[in-house]
Amino acid sequence: MTTAQEHGGDVRLSGISKTYGSFTAVQPLDLTVPQGSFFALLGASGCGKTTTLRMIAGLEEPSSGTVHLGDQDVTALPPYKRPVNTVFQSYALFPHLDIFENVAFGLRRRGIKSVKGKVGEMLDLVQLGEQARKKPHQLSGGQQQRVAVARALINHPKVLLLDEPLGALDLKLRRQMQLELKRIQTEVGITFVHVTHDQEEAMTMADTVAVMNGGRVEQLGAPADLYENPRTTFVANFLGTSNFIEAEVQGGGDDLVVKAGDCKLTLPAARCTGPTDTGAKVLVGVRPEKISLTHADDAGQIPDGRNRITGRIADSSFIGVSTQYVVRSPLCPSFEVYAQNVERDGRLTPGAEVVLHWNPAHTFGLDAAQDVQAGVEKVEEDTSA
Ligand code: ATP
Repeated sequence: MTTAQEHGGDVRLSGISKTYGSFTAVQPLDLTVPQGSFFALLGASGCGKTTTLRMIAGLEEPSSGTVHLGDQDVTALPPYKRPVNTVFQSYALFPHLDIFENVAFGLRRRGIKSVKGKVGEMLDLVQLGEQARKKPHQLSGGQQQRVAVARALINHPKVLLLDEPLGALDLKLRRQMQLELKRIQTEVGITFVHVTHDQEEAMTMADTVAVMNGGRVEQLGAPADLYENPRTTFVANFLGTSNFIEAEVQGGGDDLVVKAGDCKLTLPAARCTGPTDTGAKVLVGVRPEKISLTHADDAGQIPDGRNRITGRIADSSFIGVSTQYVVRSPLCPSFEVYAQNVERDGRLTPGAEVVLHWNPAHTFGLDAAQDVQAGVEKVEEDTSA
């Protein structure tokens, strides 16, 4: 059952774009964020995610298109007249006011006299009831960010916008705050739109993630769906790691048979977004954790029906829960394999000849006319960790 009331907090962007001179930061974009959802705009620096968020907030004027909140067209409204609030990376708390007064600020500004109950409720929500009389500098970064969230929520906005709110926190605190923000969102049921460049953060918190690239939404979906069924190499590489093998379609119905070098591989046709005609070129993709490694001497023990290719281990890193291998194969110069450390085969060391094998159902296919390296994260930033 749906009513107009239930959709009061939908965020609807129609043909919204932003250009700066001849540069297009956001290409015309249609997007609906359903009321009550936790939505993440995810992408590398410069992809247009902050600009999109700022257009929802009213802090940036769109070059074209409209912004609706529920049934209301807010495109022409200034930020303070929109039923939205924003939490930024810099919490910008008032240093001279205590936590209680920081949170009460929005209510007092609206002339509301009895603030005690509402502020208390908000402080409890962010689990800072005990800290009410402290000044911001007496709190940790994570606590200060929770005050900023409480301050933003006290006016009951229809939508809370979060612009890299955890960016200033160290890695461990960021992980805690991700769970904390998710809990708060579930509790208050307000639509959250969260901007981040951190794929794990987006996947941990959001119900729906929009992956942005070059001012466009490249793919939108639930985290698991994006991870398992990426439609482009950019999404496949930006969300985790993918291995790709160039192959040619040989035929098939529900299962496509493709040829890569001397190998025949199978994948579900439904998981191939590339061309499926015989002779077409596709990129066969498989995630590192889906692959098993077997020493070449034991190749006969691999069950029939699995996709398999051969290679040689180039590198292995023991990282506690798993061992990560890099395998060189004529079909893929650097195949990544993550193996859980359950029963380790001591022969699987650099130089060993191995067979990589996996369930064909865990294979996806993409159009080969794409850059295999698109979206591969460069080694940079995260100096905070
Ligand atoms: P980041 O995570 O680094 O903030 P982002 O994905 O949020 O990146 P935006 O801030 O939305 O990216 O910027 C998108 C593009 O628009 C960038 O290339 C940026 O340089 C450009 N841009 C943003 N604001 C302006 C402006 N006022 N004038 C000119 N170009 C701008």
